[in-house]
Order: sequence, then C-alpha cells, then structure tokens
Amino acid sequence: MLFNDALAGQLGLPGRSVGEGQLAAWYSGAERIPGSEPAALAYSGHQFGQFNPTMGDGRALLLGEIIAPDGARFDLQFKGSGRTPYSRGGDGMCALGSALREYLMSEAMAALGVPTTRSLAVVTTGSGIWREQPHPAAVLTRVAASHLRIGTFEFAATHQGLEAAQRLCDYALARHYPALLDAANRPLALLEAVAEAQARLVAKWMALGFVHGVMNTDNVTISGETIDYGPCAFIDTYSDSEVFSSIDRQGRYAYGQQPAVCRWNLYQLASALIEAIASAGGADVETARVLLEDWPQRYHAHWLREMRGKLGLAAKHDGDDTLAQDLFALLEGQQADFTMLFRALGSSLTQGFDIFAAQLLEPDKLQPWFARWQERLALEPLDSATRAAAMDAVNPLYIPRNQRLDAALGAAEAGDLIPFTGMLAAVSQPFAAQPGWEEYSAIPASGSPRHVTFCGT
Ligand code: AMP
Ligand code: MG
Repeated sequence: MLFNDALAGQLGLPGRSVGEGQLAAWYSGAERIPGSEPAALAYSGHQFGQFNPTMGDGRALLLGEIIAPDGARFDLQFKGSGRTPYSRGGDGMCALGSALREYLMSEAMAALGVPTTRSLAVVTTGSGIWREQPHPAAVLTRVAASHLRIGTFEFAATHQGLEAAQRLCDYALARHYPALLDAANRPLALLEAVAEAQARLVAKWMALGFVHGVMNTDNVTISGETIDYGPCAFIDTYSDSEVFSSIDRQGRYAYGQQPAVCRWNLYQLASALIEAIASAGGADVETARVLLEDWPQRYHAHWLREMRGKLGLAAKHDGDDTLAQDLFALLEGQQADFTMLFRALGSSLTQGFDIFAAQLLEPDKLQPWFARWQERLALEPLDSATRAAAMDAVNPLYIPRNQRLDAALGAAEAGDLIPFTGMLAAVSQPFAAQPGWEEYSAIPASGSPRHVTFCGT
C-alpha cells in the first residue's frame, strides 16, 4: 500500500494511527469507508473530436464528499474498483503501473503549483489483469475539488434538457465559484469562470512542458484542475509538435496544440450551456461568442505571466512577449531539454552564457537572443543571485522523466517499490537541488528509443 500521509493530514482523514491493515481495507474497497455512499457518475464527452453521448465512471467510483479542516470540500473517488453501469466492454480495473503513474504525476503537478486532482492511496487488490501483458491490479484513491467535467454539462444538455443544465450550472457555481451566484446571467458567468480557469491551467502546463495527452471534454474539469493522468508526459527535448500518447495518432493533443484544443473544448461547454445562457438573457449569447473568440488573448496573458517568471522578469515591459516567443522559435531544432534549459538560463546569471550554451545544438543561433535578454534584465536591476533564486523557484529541476518513470513502474509491478519511492520524493520537491538526486535531473541518454506512454486503461 502507498498512502499519502501529508494529504490525509491536510484533509483531516484518519492516518496510519488506525493501522495499515485498516487503511488497506478501506482504500482497496474491501471494507466500506464509514459514511461513504458509492455512486458512479454519468457524463458524455467529445473523444478525439467525436461526440460520445453515453460515457461515465467506467472504472471509477465516487465514494462521497469530505470537508477538510479548512472548510474546503473535496470528492473522494476510487479508480480501478470494478465494473459499474458505465463500464461498457471494460473490466473496471486498473493496472498497478497506471495507478502509480497517476499517483506520481498528480503529486508532481501539485508540488509544481499546478491545479490538479491529488492521490491519497494505491492498494494492490491481489488480482491480476491483462493489458497486452499481465499486470497486478490496484485501486487508486483520488481526491478532486469535484468530478464535474465539461462532459457532465454535455450529458445534461443532451439527455436531460434545459432545467437540468440550469441546476447543474447553479450547483457548479455554488461549489467552485460561489461569488458568481449573484451574476445577472449565471450560465454565462460559469462559462467565463471555466474559460479563465482553463486558460490559467493550460498556461501552466505549457510553461512546464506538460503534455496531457487526452484532452477529451470528459477529461476537462469545471474546477480548472488537471484530471485523468493517462498517457501524459513532460517533454524532454523541446519541440512544439511533441506527442506522447500512443492513442493520439494524429497529434491532436500534441504539446503546441493544447491551447487551441482547450478553446475547442470550451466551445463544447458553451454549446452545452447556450440554451441556459439564452434563457437568462438573449443578448448574452453574443457575449459568450465574443468571450470565446477573444479567448486566445486571455490565454496568452496567462502564458506571458508564466514566461516572465521563467525568464526572471518581475516587471512588465513592451517587448517581453516577443522576447519569450522568439526564444521558443529559436529552440526548434536545438534538441534542448526543456527543463534543464530554463534551469541553465537561471544559472547563466551567475555562471555566464556557456552554461546555457551547453544545452543547445547551435549556441551561436541563440547568442543574439541571450544578449537581448541581458539588455532586458538591465531594465530592472537586481543582483544576480537573487534573480537566479527567483528563477529556480519556478523552473523545476526534478520532473518525472518518462523513461525513468516507466522503469520505476516496471520495477514496482515486479515487487520493487524503491525506484518509484525515490522518484516520488524528488518530484515532490522539484525546485531545490538536493545532493544525491542527480539521477532525477539527468537528461535521458541520447539515442534512446522515443518514449511513448500508454493509455492508463
Ligand atoms: P479516459 O479517457 O482514460 O479517461 O477513459 C475514457 C472512458 O473509458 C471513461 O468513461 C472511463 O470510465 C472508461 N474506461 C477506461 N478504462 C476502463 C476500464 N478498464 N473499464 C471500464 N471502463 C473504462
Ligand atoms: Mg477520463
């Protein structure tokens, strides 16, 4: 059993003092957690662009809600606890490797400051399942601000009509954006709040080189948390077209596509809400249209804020946007490691251009950009060590490296959890360099086979 003591403490849930056997009984589903009322949720979704009206928790099970000591409300959910009415042809089970993958990825994202579902426990069930090869089965316990998805709204609009969509909207506002319950047009206010939360979220993904991999509308939350860690990955070598999902053959969800896909998904939310928006105020349909038309600027403002942080810029100056965009344009083809590159940029403040140059195939091509960046820094004088520390606080050193993670998951399925727990410790403290953790920041050996993760199913 893997158990997240710190998270249990934050949520006010019983910890190891009740005994590991008791925790394992609860979090494997063998014994019902006191007070829980399990339910599988229905939703619809656009999967790779195609609408699927009847989806739902096929291998997940909502256990109930908990209120943390600070008053925040969370859903507790199992993944891999068996078949439900929405399992279709699936077995409702989860492989240990997939469960551990979601656990580590979500905890890494939380440590990186990205809104995300969290992971409380992984317990092996003792059974085995077949996913191209045999795997031990496990149950993951996930914690989320809620499990409302864009697909939940698509379900209401498709199957239940206007009144259900309005009620769902009011429920979502009360749960995630209570200040907006007074808005003149509540469905429009919800659309804007989700558009804003998703813009902020995807900007953070882009700033960290995170590729979600399956941005179907059923995997997009209303709360703005990252959800459903299947074939996701952090990019190693930077390229706008990096794709990680083996099921994403057309590259629909490639790194550089994520903002555009996010907007496409928001259009699906708008479609599901449009009747409710119109009935609250006909003229507001136009407001919704403009909101989505202008969404790229909204997203871009978040992206630029993230980039200023990454580049060590505290104030706003004209030209910052071009400076950031030019960096990415110049990096195409440089085979630069996305994570180490920004770390090296921070180090260059105290150690000079060479440490940045070492990350590049053709440093000469980046030299003029580097000089421009230096000129820009001079507009807001700060001592180099202070600025480098500020950059190191947003540019991580330890991210879940794909090949290393897959090796750790393979070892875990074979009974050795040590590589996994070592990596979990490193990615849970991603910013400060620790002696002995060099292997977690190491760039995978060049020439290694291109990494492709598999869908968690
Ligand atoms: P995903 O894109 O991984 O979030 O999953 C898409 C849909 O497939 C969801 O509705 C899941 O509930 C369902 N699903 C995935 N894996 C299984 C499984 N092993 N058994 C039943 N349903 C599943
Ligand atoms: Mg999903």
